[in-house]
Amino acid sequence: MNSYEEFSKKDKPTDYFIKLSETLSKLNEELNAFNVISDLSKLTNFPISVKDNICTKDVETTASSKILKGYIPPFDATVVSKIREKNTFSFLGKTNMDEFGFGSFGVNSEKCAKNPFNTSYVSGGSSSGSAIATSILKYHISIAESTGGSISTPSAFCGVVGFTPTYGSVSRYGLIDYSNSLDKIGIIARKSEDIRFMYDIIKGKDIYDTTSVDINCNNQNNKTIILIDELIKEINPEIEKLFLELVDKFSKMGYVIKHKSIPFIEKAIASYYIIAMAEASTNLAKYTGFKYGFKNENISEKYNQFFTTSRSNFGKEAKRRVVLGTFVRSASVKDMYYSKALKTRTLLINELSKVLNEGFILSPVMPIKTPKFDEINNFSPLEVYKTDMLTIPPNLCGFPHIAFPYAYLNGMPVGAQLITKHWNDYAIIDIVSEWENNFKYNFKYNLGSI
Ligand code: GLN
Repeated sequence: MNSYEEFSKKDKPTDYFIKLSETLSKLNEELNAFNVISDLSKLTNFPISVKDNICTKDVETTASSKILKGYIPPFDATVVSKIREKNTFSFLGKTNMDEFGFGSFGVNSEKCAKNPFNTSYVSGGSSSGSAIATSILKYHISIAESTGGSISTPSAFCGVVGFTPTYGSVSRYGLIDYSNSLDKIGIIARKSEDIRFMYDIIKGKDIYDTTSVDINCNNQNNKTIILIDELIKEINPEIEKLFLELVDKFSKMGYVIKHKSIPFIEKAIASYYIIAMAEASTNLAKYTGFKYGFKNENISEKYNQFFTTSRSNFGKEAKRRVVLGTFVRSASVKDMYYSKALKTRTLLINELSKVLNEGFILSPVMPIKTPKFDEINNFSPLEVYKTDMLTIPPNLCGFPHIAFPYAYLNGMPVGAQLITKHWNDYAIIDIVSEWENNFKYNFKYNLGSI
């Protein structure tokens, strides 16, 4: 039974929401999962939350950026309309995230998101709030978004299931773009059944997003798990040990385990960050303070001064991406960086597609243990980018992937990730269901009893 069906059996949802309201505001003060919490006294249906870079009519949507403070969209994103049309869901609120999706740890936001298993640890990002909310709420599904790992990483760190579909299978209309050729709207939930349930609702072609298509699902499940040597060679030894135990469990479930080497996969991080930053810098150009973004009332300032005042509201990481992104696509160096990055992406799609025709790629989600906030402060930006080495390949290539929790390490959850070929989305959801059933999977949530 999925959580939606379980919730429908509850006697008094109104009482439930009164209790939820108290718990949620108390927890939110501590964890910073939400940027906006709805008035819960009016709610009765199954609780849904939406990442704060997805537009919701009449509800402030800022993508956790100071520059969008006060922006109230006059329309719903297509995913939100599709959910509203059902008339059986209640919107709990907008979840906290790294500003515009720039980050892996949930720390590039005005309100730093904290891990519900232990608040000295990061929650992962950029969909930090969606993963935290799912980890603390028993009946809940969150609509999140990933460009390079923003669904898998926080899901792994918070002990929940995060699904990123094939690029284009869910409409991006109403998403505050980070990098249009990489962004995917996906789902964070506690179990695979909830993912399948919500994916059926939000997927499909949309006239407002020309890159969206109806999913023509192959659902091929050939019982082969592939380990890519380059993806597992640099992981933390404790994570590696747990991961090998997981691989063993898959072989007990009847999967054949194969090893492959794809040296070229190591180019994925460079290619991703060049493309992502190039596109981000063009997307951020519209926040000038005229049509979008912080209103600078002092129009008597000089032209340059006016824009500088408005755009100084971007956070540090956003500024870094404007500078680097503008550089890599500038005429004099474009062929050296941007064009090469695009070619690398195409080559990687071809190479990985061949491997994915033979089976599913399994890897850890992060090569490191969940870090504490003090540790993150010592990471250079490059070190942060490198921690995405396992989540970037499927994201760069638009392959569907799913992260699921499978162990604990020092009281913190650990996650693994399954990748499959384009349009084979349901197959990986099915494998996670199989894993949940076989191992009587019952993850213990730290705070999540309500
Ligand atoms: N960490 C990656 C980045 O900063 C991915 C984030 C995301 O998927 N939005 O680009």
